[in-house]
Amino acid sequence: MITLRKPKIVILGAGYGGLMTATRLQKAVGMNEVEIQLVNKNDYHYETTWLHEASAGTLHHDRVRYDISSVIDRNKVEFIQGTVVEVNRDEKKVILEEGELPYDYLVVAVGGESETFGIKGLKEYAFSIVNVNSARQIRDHIEYQFATYQAEEDKKEERLTIVVGGAGFTGIEFLGELGNRVPELCKEYDIDPHKVKIICVEAAPTVLPGFDPELVNYAVAQLEKKGVTFMIGTAVKEATETGIIVGKGEDEVEEIKAGTVVWAAGVRGNAIVEKSGFEAMRGRVKVQPDLRAPGHDDVFIIGDSSLVINEEINRPYPPTAQIAMQQGVTVAHNILALIRGKELETFVPDIKGTVCSLGHDDAIGVAFGKKMTGSTASFMKKVIDNRSLFMVGGPSLVLKKGKFNIF
Ligand code: FAD
Ligand code: NAD
Repeated sequence: MITLRKPKIVILGAGYGGLMTATRLQKAVGMNEVEIQLVNKNDYHYETTWLHEASAGTLHHDRVRYDISSVIDRNKVEFIQGTVVEVNRDEKKVILEEGELPYDYLVVAVGGESETFGIKGLKEYAFSIVNVNSARQIRDHIEYQFATYQAEEDKKEERLTIVVGGAGFTGIEFLGELGNRVPELCKEYDIDPHKVKIICVEAAPTVLPGFDPELVNYAVAQLEKKGVTFMIGTAVKEATETGIIVGKGEDEVEEIKAGTVVWAAGVRGNAIVEKSGFEAMRGRVKVQPDLRAPGHDDVFIIGDSSLVINEEINRPYPPTAQIAMQQGVTVAHNILALIRGKELETFVPDIKGTVCSLGHDDAIGVAFGKKMTGSTASFMKKVIDNRSLFMVGGPSLVLKKGKFNIF
């Protein structure tokens, strides 16, 4: 009797893209049709899009994560907790810190990394909002600075200065949370709020470059009311043990002494991608329309490690959870199409809008072509957050982890 080996699909990363691929596949495959392995560093998934809240301490880190096992069907998907080191494309296997995994079809969905552009001192002295561990560290570090300021004899006011590098969506959302958290910390540690400085340094001539100017003005005004000072058209040049060096040009350089520096000035693809020999731009692979890596029939790359061009403006789509999840749906379809000998589909992003929170009760955004601010936009943000839970884990995950503090 001949037994045919089942095709083996390996998915690397259980973030938005990877988990969406796995949950779509498990719904679509027959019981013994394929073998699926999902690999992730931790046994939990975290909502990267909520990490600014955990980092500021406005949401507990356990609220932003859930067990991967709670959303996968173990009869169809095997979860492997492991750390990917690289992909050996010639031998069609994944090298993990813990061993090796052969594959027939591979989905690389390991997310992105903070982009430091080689700026001196950032890796050593600045924090980045990238995962649950870094969020916990930022929250605890800020709290430590407040507690230490109050406990020490020679009060160093720079302990109460928080600098955020970059006023893109991550920087602005984090500032919104800080604006709510700082008054709580001041109360807890008996500190005069006027002593606290929250400074945002942005290299471009505006906050949220490229976003609707009316909404940007609203965001800036709201954040300034919460105590944020913006330094626009000013680049971060170096991070040091005592703060940060910024400048408008080569000559105009200034040092800001700060107890906390959070670097939020962009992402690049995961280093695994380049280490594995894929041709990449800032760690992101310009994928084919069917999301396969060029020159590979069996490797799909999605999420923050992939690059998809928006043909209308001939520029890459910004890496977002929205796109990563949609790519997950397409990849699940395309892998099954390959296995079943059907047509592969082209990935076409369906951008429903962008909403940027300014704390739990305020936001700005454009959704379905409509501009919104304040509680309406904030409500929309929570709907989006809950929708992404729903798409992966259905109503039970929304009930367990959803955001219902609507007003
Ligand atoms: P991720 O969701 O980051 O998942 C990657 C997974 O791979 C993780 O589980 C990680 O543990 C795992 N992994 C990484 N390395 C390894 C390894 N070596 N071995 C094993 N596992 C590994 N986008 C939006 O659309 N809307 C938003 O509102 C929004 N808000 C954001 C707010 C913040 C604070 C940040 C930082 C980003 C936000 N984004 C938002 C962007 C969005 O979070 C990312 O684009 C999205 O997470 C990318 O999804 P992904 O699947 O590529 O990676
Ligand atoms: P980004 O690239 O969108 O913004 C980075 C900002 O940092 C830019 O404004 C840039 O001008 C600035 N910058 C770069 N170098 C600098 C320097 N040396 N000094 C000072 N400023 C500097 O990056 P991000 O905000 O981290 O976002 C990453 C991705 O995640 C984006 O695709 C974004 O759309 C997405 N995201 C979306 C949301 C949302 O939809 N609500 C929230 C967060 C992140």
